[in-house]
Amino acid sequence: MMTSVPMELVCDTSVANAYKSAPQRARVVSEGWFAQNSYCLACDADRLYRTPSNTAATDFTCNGCGQRYELKTFLKRPGRSLVDGAYLSLLGRIQAGTAPTLCLLERSDCWRIRSLTAIHSSFLTPWVIEQRRPLSQVARRAGWVGCNIRLDRIPPDGEINVIGAGVACPKAEVRNKFQRFLPLASLPVGQRGWTTLTLSVIRKLGRPQFSLGDLYLREEEFSAFYPSNRHVRAKIRQQLQNLRDLGMLSFEGRGEYRLSV
Ligand SMILES: [Zn+2]
Repeated sequence: MMTSVPMELVCDTSVANAYKSAPQRARVVSEGWFAQNSYCLACDADRLYRTPSNTAATDFTCNGCGQRYELKTFLKRPGRSLVDGAYLSLLGRIQAGTAPTLCLLERSDCWRIRSLTAIHSSFLTPWVIEQRRPLSQVARRAGWVGCNIRLDRIPPDGEINVIGAGVACPKAEVRNKFQRFLPLASLPVGQRGWTTLTLSVIRKLGRPQFSLGDLYLREEEFSAFYPSNRHVRAKIRQQLQNLRDLGMLSFEGRGEYRLSV
């Protein structure tokens, strides 16, 4: 039987001894911990590599499969919305299929890791990111437009616990949860928002077997996110086909479906 090295849950702060400013120290300590303890969720690679620091919004990559990871550290991780970098840059990356998986690291004052949550790259769709107001004319970067990532629009399937309540989750289990949604990345980006929303609405039904009628009853939940779409029911049926083609659900006949993820 293979034994694996347990994940170190206290950060080594000595790596930041040469740095003075608090934000810089926090960045160096958390990146140092991540470099030592992270692993790829999308494949079996046990190391991630730091990308050159001028790469927009990407901190680590897997040399095995190319999955990208962006690390964000908090004393208390936000629940609803996360401030990110330039809106157009992230939107472009989502459209190009190169969006990162966001790694939300929550730590205590004395640098003990409380939690690490991965926001799956396949669940980052245009409807999850929100434009912020342009910076005012007097700002140094006047007109610059940042974005918020709306964590409340990410379905539970897209949020994967790597460390929860100070305990590391089993690696095989974490990878399994992550990898079953990798096929979503093959969908065109305009479809993917609908597909993940459909998955999220199905999950809320609380059972794997459901009918088309169950989803039609929740038409308003879809319209709330896509108010200008007049063909919500057709969209729902299309998403069920997408989920079936990706192997995530089966058609049982007579308008009945069964989720298999
Ligand atoms: Zn990988």
